[in-house]
This record gives sequence, structure tokens and C-alpha cells, in this order.
Amino acid sequence: MRKQASDICPKIAKKLEKLKNESAACIPRFTGDEKFEVTHMYRSQFFVDLEIGSCSCRKWELTGLSCSHAISGLAWKGLESEPYVSHYYSKTTYMQAYEPVISPIDGLEVCRDPSTDALLPPKKIELSGRPKKPRRREPDEVRSIILGTIRLSEKELKK
Ligand SMILES: [Zn+2]
Repeated sequence: MRKQASDICPKIAKKLEKLKNESAACIPRFTGDEKFEVTHMYRSQFFVDLEIGSCSCRKWELTGLSCSHAISGLAWKGLESEPYVSHYYSKTTYMQAYEPVISPIDGLEVCRDPSTDALLPPKKIELSGRPKKPRRREPDEVRSIILGTIRLSEKELKK
């Protein structure tokens, strides 16, 4: 579906104008069969195929909006870039997305009281087996203290 400039959503039209300005930094070289080798100002080079709508920078395929490299190729051929914008960005598609009727809902009188739906902690699960108890130390047993990654006994601490 070929689009007119007026059929593109305003935000996308603005982005497209910005990309058109950026395309001035690109130098397209026609290689035949709707294909271009586009050199950017910063010496990066991209391969653009207008027939399948792709660029090696992958922005055209990912966003549906032709990149500045592709726009420079289109401009070289004397073509407008608006028809190459994805139909997702058209006003018609936007209107179709919001066309369905919004379902009616009940009033507040019919709704449940949300305060009764308090979030409770999970129930405690009793595990099988004997429960663990802390070990009872002998009165003369040496206790150890962990300092960082070094374990020291009380004897070593007293030194
Ligand atoms: Zn590109």
C-alpha cells in the first residue's frame, strides 16, 4: 500500500523529516537492480536494497521506517520516502487499532470491596523429620570468630 505524506502519523512524519536531513551526510552509489552502496560521512558503508526494503544497518527492517541510508538512495532515484514507510505507521492503521467498541463495566455498587482482599503471608509448611536444634557447646570448647575470610579461634585472638 503506497502512502501519501498526509497518511503517516504526525510523530513518524517528524522522525522521517529528521532522517531526511540526516541523509544529507550519505553518499549513495547506484550498483543496479534497486541496490545501493551508501557511504556515510564517518566512513561507514552500508548496503541498501530498495526492492526488498532492507539496509545493512538493519534499522529499516527493525523499525519499518527507512533509515537515512535508504532515504539517500531513494532521493538519488528521485523517489519520495513516504511510500516506503511501514503501514503500521499510517493513520488508517491507527484508527483501525482503536476502532473496536470498549466494553461497558459495572458501577462501584456492584464491585467487591478491595480491602477484604488483603495479601496474606504463605502458610507455614511443617517439613518431615526431626526439627533442628542448636548444638550445646561444652564449657571448655573453643569458639571461633570469622573476620572477613579468616577464621580465628579465641586462643589466636588473645595472642
Ligand atoms: Zn541504513
